[in-house]
Amino acid sequence: MRTVVCVKQVPDTTEVKVDPQTGTLIRAGVPSILNPYDHFAVEWALKLKARHGGEVTVLTMGPPQAKAVLQLALALGCDRAMLLSDRAFAGSDTWATSYALARAVKKIGKFDLILCGQQAIDGDTAQVGPGVAQSLHIPQITFCDSIEVEGRKAKVQRHIDDGYEIVEAKLPVLCTMSLPHAHPLPWPSFPKVAQARSKVLEVWTAADIGAEPEKIGLKGSPTQVHKVYPPPLRAKGTVFTGSASEMASKLLDILRQENFIKP
Ligand SMILES: Cc1cc2nc3c(=O)[nH]c(=O)nc-3n(C[C@H](O)[C@H](O)[C@H](O)COP(=O)(O)OP(=O)(O)OC[C@H]3O[C@@H](n4cnc5c(N)ncnc54)[C@H](O)[C@@H]3O)c2cc1C
Repeated sequence: MRTVVCVKQVPDTTEVKVDPQTGTLIRAGVPSILNPYDHFAVEWALKLKARHGGEVTVLTMGPPQAKAVLQLALALGCDRAMLLSDRAFAGSDTWATSYALARAVKKIGKFDLILCGQQAIDGDTAQVGPGVAQSLHIPQITFCDSIEVEGRKAKVQRHIDDGYEIVEAKLPVLCTMSLPHAHPLPWPSFPKVAQARSKVLEVWTAADIGAEPEKIGLKGSPTQVHKVYPPPLRAKGTVFTGSASEMASKLLDILRQENFIKP
């Protein structure tokens, strides 16, 4: 099994704040983490490697500090890591990000499976996984809980609104992984973290992956963001207490006062 896992470094969103003046995310001083859905994708890649053998390559596009999530993935047991980092990628939307990741996957070489998280907890669009599959012209299965591989076929359990469904696809296929119900991988031990430093971590530029300049960065991004703002706080609701008839009559009074019903 040759698996590529796409991972993203994200701010720990419980601590993210929006600057009210500029409408941009305040990232300074906010700790970064491996996107939790991507952590689950790494776990599945390693589980499949344990069952079928092979190699797990982890891939991210981001600034130099995104190396931290690759080092974590290496310490968890991944074999190779690629960082796509270049000023030319700055301003990429999901379309341009998907294109760049797909180019990098092509450079990595033969693969059977690509795993992504179902969504990044900062951007939250859930578009990049499907975008990569589309760029590579391979099938995609979204919102996956588990994957079994039999021969050249993947059998996947995926979430749907009122339960789950089992879907089969020929390899190669891209799956986006939902959050686990099972226990997450234990945090890597210190020797594993030290060992990870000897594994391959390559940094690739836009030129290294043969990306066409007009398809990356702001130039290659069809999305226009006009404004980002936190939703305004709603006024507190009113809680009625008392018997049902007392509460109903209080509600009627308000509806009359507001001219919703005639007195
Ligand atoms: C016009 C525009 C300009 C932007 N400029 C910037 C910018 O300058 N800097 C910036 O950081 N963001 C920028 N963004 C945001 C950027 O487009 C998104 O962060 C990125 O495309 C991923 O989208 P998402 O977070 O919604 O991921 P989702 O689609 O929700 O992610 C799904 C999965 O795709 C994979 N994935 C997503 N992103 C990456 C990645 N970078 N590397 C590897 N795997 C990944 C992961 O497996 C993830 O779980 C910009 C967006 C727009 C619209």
